[in-house]
Amino acid sequence: MKFSLAIHGGAGTIARTSLTPEAEQQYRSALHTALQAGAAVLASGGPALDAVETAVRSLEDCPLFNAGRGAVFTHEGHHEMDAALMDGASGRAGAVAGVREVQNPIRAARLVMEATEHVLLAYPGADELAREHGLPLQPPAYFFTEFRHRQLQEAIAAGRMQLDHAATPAAAVAPDPNWKKGTVGAVARDQHGHLAAATSTGGMTNKRYARIGDTPLIGAGTWADARCAISCTGHGEYFMRAVAAHDIACLIEYRGLTLAEACRVVVHDKLAPAGGEGGLIAVDAAGNLALPFNSEGMYRAWRDADGASEVAIY
Ligand code: ASP
Repeated sequence: MKFSLAIHGGAGTIARTSLTPEAEQQYRSALHTALQAGAAVLASGGPALDAVETAVRSLEDCPLFNAGRGAVFTHEGHHEMDAALMDGASGRAGAVAGVREVQNPIRAARLVMEATEHVLLAYPGADELAREHGLPLQPPAYFFTEFRHRQLQEAIAAGRMQLDHAATPAAAVAPDPNWKKGTVGAVARDQHGHLAAATSTGGMTNKRYARIGDTPLIGAGTWADARCAISCTGHGEYFMRAVAAHDIACLIEYRGLTLAEACRVVVHDKLAPAGGEGGLIAVDAAGNLALPFNSEGMYRAWRDADGASEVAIY
């Protein structure tokens, strides 16, 4: 029986010209590790939901990516993390927004799905749920990385309320090629043909207190049903207004498009002209994968139904 898995480490990649061979090796190896972790679950016949959670946890624990440990800073210098997952087999979903303490926000999202009647919990209430159920919590120092802190100082100095190198009035300042977005995600089709998606993020550097992006909004940044599973990365406000992830499912269902066609329409025909920079990873019920992006790069890795795997950045 075949399975497929794709992961991403965000569309806000380091500009090709600034990526040193050492840094590239670190990103590739972290993506490879996360892919292997998720693939091991699927290879042993495990459910897609467990595989995407496992892969995302691995990326959350890596300080290189903007999720969990490496989450970016808000304007006030805090971390407010968002995460969601969705089980295509049952249609159930769980999400958290603005958590500050939980080590692995994706685990908290799963807890919302499995231990409550709700879909989305936010702010201290979400951290509280994680605490009640014994998930590991961490002090702010755990989430502090020098690199992200410097990005915050640069964003404040540039007067940018958000990390955005799209052409907005606020971006009158010359775009710095090193601005990062980030976000991590995974989509999988397991050996039973079930699909799942998971996404986790620190959001955008210098974001306003209490800003919530597309990641934890089911249908915007994360979606899974019987036809496809989608995890998005990019400038969240655009993905929210486009209901990007669910739009792909609609294009497949209502217009009969293939996964690749539906992804192209959303990423290149709809998001890009609107200024919605980013990308997504997607899998369909047959195990086909699509990993389109309209940004310079997107950290990504995949293992297709024939067992071939690859890691790529640009
Ligand atoms: N989509 C995320 C957000 O807007 C950020 C990202 O993917 O880089 O919060």
